[in-house]
Amino acid sequence: MIGLMRKRTSAWQKDTSKVFKFAEGYMEFLAKAKTERAATKTIAATLEKNGFKELSKSKILKAGDKVYHNQKGKSIIAAVIGKQNDRFNLVGSHIDSPRLDLKPNPLFEDSSIALLKTHYYGGIKKYQWVNVDLALYGVIHTKDGKKIELCIGEKDDEPRFLMSDLLPHLSKKQMEKKADEIIEGEQLNIFIGNIPLEAKEGKEKVKANILKILNKDYGIVEDDFSFAELNFIPAGKPREIGFDRSMIAGYGQDDKSCSYANLMSILDVKTPAVTAIAYFSDKEEIGSYGNTGAQSYILLDFAEQLVQKLGLKTSPKEMLRQSKAISADVSAGLDPSFHESHEERNAAIIGEGVVIEKYTGSGGKYSANDTHAEYMNEIRQLMLKNDVRFQASEIGKIDIGGGGTIALYLSRFGMDTVDAGPAVLGMHSPREIISKVDLYESYKLYRAFLA
Ligand SMILES: [Zn+2]
Repeated sequence: MIGLMRKRTSAWQKDTSKVFKFAEGYMEFLAKAKTERAATKTIAATLEKNGFKELSKSKILKAGDKVYHNQKGKSIIAAVIGKQNDRFNLVGSHIDSPRLDLKPNPLFEDSSIALLKTHYYGGIKKYQWVNVDLALYGVIHTKDGKKIELCIGEKDDEPRFLMSDLLPHLSKKQMEKKADEIIEGEQLNIFIGNIPLEAKEGKEKVKANILKILNKDYGIVEDDFSFAELNFIPAGKPREIGFDRSMIAGYGQDDKSCSYANLMSILDVKTPAVTAIAYFSDKEEIGSYGNTGAQSYILLDFAEQLVQKLGLKTSPKEMLRQSKAISADVSAGLDPSFHESHEERNAAIIGEGVVIEKYTGSGGKYSANDTHAEYMNEIRQLMLKNDVRFQASEIGKIDIGGGGTIALYLSRFGMDTVDAGPAVLGMHSPREIISKVDLYESYKLYRAFLA
């Protein structure tokens, strides 16, 4: 196979200390910014610390001004106003990741165990999520108007949550099933307790005890679950992988890797030639819908505010049309144990730099943005000028699957848009892997693009 492959060059050639230093900051971010709400909070705090002000609070804007808009605590747009301000360069990443959300009526008891029923969010292989320590994140609004924010399972002295898989001894039938049926959607039930409330008459004493604890510790009653937004996600911090510490394993690197590189890039921007925008979107994993997703009018609204506060004659739509974007999202790296799913000449290899994708989608480029050659070359010139290591790839073999990004929702405004980011192994699993050097090369590209 190797003989067929295109000439490959490692990105691990220089700047190794910078690569490792950058990865340190990233791993701290990744540990904190695990859900879109947590990521928005972390990003907003970082922006504030670095002189960014809420856009709604500024009346007039001028070159060098740093502003941001927080969209309902789940999505965020930051901008540094450029010398030229009637258009912008935008890097757009997403901050949501696949996970397990609670159903509206989740709590039940079976066989002396209290459990919560979940509904998965995003594209997951369900069997990967059993036997994994889970933490609970999210918010509950009580009847009397209190907002309770939960994050349970990350600290050493906190409990965690878990779904079990069937023991091998009794799995003869299960093992004959297709992989997507081994664990079915309605089996994504999470263990949350086992002690019965003896004072209670009748059945469901364990459930009653859990409700008692929840009420005592958080003031929650069972009905409150129906008006909550609670996510179970893999607990724990990211870790370095390999004797050489070259890789990082952790939950949510799709797309927190690009989001961190995006954030660091906008922080580096002084007064750019053209207005620089870092966009952190939500709901990418379920199609970018909703009022925090990239299909909403949030970018158009942001452009409208810029036009107004800069006193420009141009229209917001014209501003968007003249702008340029990088859709900062991860790609699938070639997994050496699964060669049959990749086409070697066009597969991304981890450690070989930022992956540039002209198109994503599936089948006959269905749902692809498919960047114009002119813009592809513009990005190539930028990478060559800034010594960015890159590889041009597509996601996998034709007709075996596919994937999408927010690229098409950026380009529909008229912006030239291309996908670029690090390659990931084990994407959408509870523990995804990237190479530190690809993260760094992605950062170099975004920074050069925004500068
Ligand atoms: Zn994804």
